[in-house]
Amino acid sequence: MHRQMSLLRDLQAIDSYIDRLRKELAQLDSGERIRVKLEQSRARMEQIKARYEQSYAAAAEQERLLQEFDQRIRQAEADLYSGRVTNPRELQLMQQEIEQAKQTREELDMQMLKMWDDLESLKKDIDASERDLQQIERFYEAHVEEYRQRKAALESEIAFHEKEREKLTQQIDPDALARYQTLRERLGGTAVAVVAQKACTVCHTLLTPYTLKRLENEDALIACESCGRLLYDPQLAQ
Ligand SMILES: [Zn+2]
Repeated sequence: MHRQMSLLRDLQAIDSYIDRLRKELAQLDSGERIRVKLEQSRARMEQIKARYEQSYAAAAEQERLLQEFDQRIRQAEADLYSGRVTNPRELQLMQQEIEQAKQTREELDMQMLKMWDDLESLKKDIDASERDLQQIERFYEAHVEEYRQRKAALESEIAFHEKEREKLTQQIDPDALARYQTLRERLGGTAVAVVAQKACTVCHTLLTPYTLKRLENEDALIACESCGRLLYDPQLAQ
């Protein structure tokens, strides 16, 4: 067994592991979807609050109008009973006007009640939205924290194994290393294939007696005839 082959097998193990870590790192969910949901929830909250403020201002204005109306009715009544007007026809007209004003006031009062009711239900909407928002915020924060921790752990694990890889490659022949790198790039990351039961365990092709014999006797890198990967036979290594 070529000594370089054992080193390449170790290199492949490290590289496959780093590949897996990098893949996991790339697939980590940074919480973007939750963040978008959070933004939407905040925007909805702002909308409801703005509506509440508008409705509140309208209700306050209505209240002011009502008080003004009351004032006018009180003045009209005071005028009616002041004794200033004595003409019965004129007095009757004044009375009619007051009655009409009182009726209008009644209607305004009903509107007012409806407005306060609407405000009450908007207030409930705000409270419910606030609770939803807080829940999403907590969920998002927990997610981001978990993401950061996992990301940092993966990055440090990758950095550690990159160093190990560096040390290992210094022991490998430049030609063997170059061949390994080329195969890795061409064959989806796996350049070394383990031999088991006289077959290549990557492409599952049975190896010819000629290849098996070379593998046993030659001090060289032997490739699988089918997939071209460098063969490593654990039994020969013992
Ligand atoms: Zn193969």
